[in-house]
Parts: sequence; structure tokens; C-alpha cells
Amino acid sequence: MEERLQKVMANAGVASRRASEKLILDGKVMVNGQVIKELGVKVSPSDVVLVNGQAIDREDKVYYLLYKPRGVITAVKDDKGRKTVVDILDDVSQRVYPVGRLDYDTSGLLLLTNDGQMANRLMHPRYKVNKTYVAKVKGIPSNDVLKRLRLGVIIEGKKTAPAKVKVISSDRQKQTAIVQLTIHEGRNHQVRNMLKAVGHPVQKLSRETYGFLTLKGLTSGDYRALTRDEIDELK
Ligand code: URA
Repeated sequence: MEERLQKVMANAGVASRRASEKLILDGKVMVNGQVIKELGVKVSPSDVVLVNGQAIDREDKVYYLLYKPRGVITAVKDDKGRKTVVDILDDVSQRVYPVGRLDYDTSGLLLLTNDGQMANRLMHPRYKVNKTYVAKVKGIPSNDVLKRLRLGVIIEGKKTAPAKVKVISSDRQKQTAIVQLTIHEGRNHQVRNMLKAVGHPVQKLSRETYGFLTLKGLTSGDYRALTRDEIDELK
């Protein structure tokens, strides 16, 4: 299917459509070895498009939701040969990578895509995507502890943004509790560090939601493509 050059450039993450038009008018874009300087040119998937001498990425964009199991590394490749989240998506031919990170021992919802623009936007603190975690913790958090978490706690010298938090259940005999915590930041080991900072180390951690997305219908190790509506809502 033929599409306008500036649209193809914008879809590839080169720049916005408007900025792509400027690149064309400035003579920075070549199609099949020819500089294009006017707007309105259409290209097909087999045409080679260079911007500032570099080929643009015209791979179809794909989006997957994975129920990450524990004991899998959030990376594309691992030096130590451990299984990665990308290894799980074995029938996906595109080169996808994870949006953000879940610890090796954390399970739950992880997005993977080859859409760099969308991934960067979702990970940017400005977008404040809410993520809900369920943690099994040592001890039973008091109301005072919950209040501290809600207001933000200092981890690695910096205060966390206010969190939503509640105790879902507790086991007095075992002295453990299940805590639900919603945050929009994505600092390294943030949930584990927040709970540790208030005296309740995490024994088990799972991410249940990412924005409006949930794990509904999936079990650990399953994945599915996002629907068109879900992709549009994330954009
Ligand atoms: N917070 C953590 O501590 N670990 C995760 O994997 C995700 C959030």
C-alpha cells in the first residue's frame, strides 16, 4: 500500500508529520537514491527511504502484553544465558523490546513493542502511567505506615510521589500481609524499596495493571497482541 512520505516518516518515529514535511522540503530525504524536495510523494513498503543518509525503520509496529513469570529477565538478551521476556514471545518475528522493567523475581504485566516512540512516551515521567502492584510483605503495615507510603517515602535520597496503598489481607499467625500499591513512577526496584523503607520487606511481587491494561484472561507465561482500540488508547 502506498502512503505519503511524511506519514511513513512519522510512523517510523523520525519526527512528527509536520517536522517530516520540513525535512522533505529541506532536501534531507531520499527515496530509492533520489532526493525528494516536494510534498505529496507516495511510497510503497519496498521503497528505500533515507533521512539524513540513514535508512528509516519501516517494520510494522506490534504491541504485546505479557504475563511475565518470576525467574525471567526483562531484557532482550542476557549475558548469563538466562531466559528473557523476549525469549517467551517465540512466535513474534519483529524485534520487540520491553517497555520498562520488572525485576527477575517480579511477575506480572509487561508490555513489549518495537514502537520506540510509544515506548519512550509511556516511560516518560510526564505521562504518569499508573501501575498497580500486589506485594506479599513481612509484617502487617499499620495505618501510620500506610499514611507514610501515601505521602511518599525517601528512597535513595529522593522522595517518591504519593502512592495509593491498601492492605488487602493479613495473616496474624504468619505475620505477613498482602498489600496493593499504585504508583506512576518507575524507579528501579521502587516498590520493593518503598516497602523496605517502611519496615515491610517484600517476599513476593506482581504487577497487576499498567494504565487501563490488566492481566485478565492470562496466566503466567501467556501473552497476547494488544487490540487496535488498546493501542489507540495508549497513544
Ligand atoms: N518495583 C519493584 O520493586 N520491582 C519491580 O519489578 C517493579 C516495581
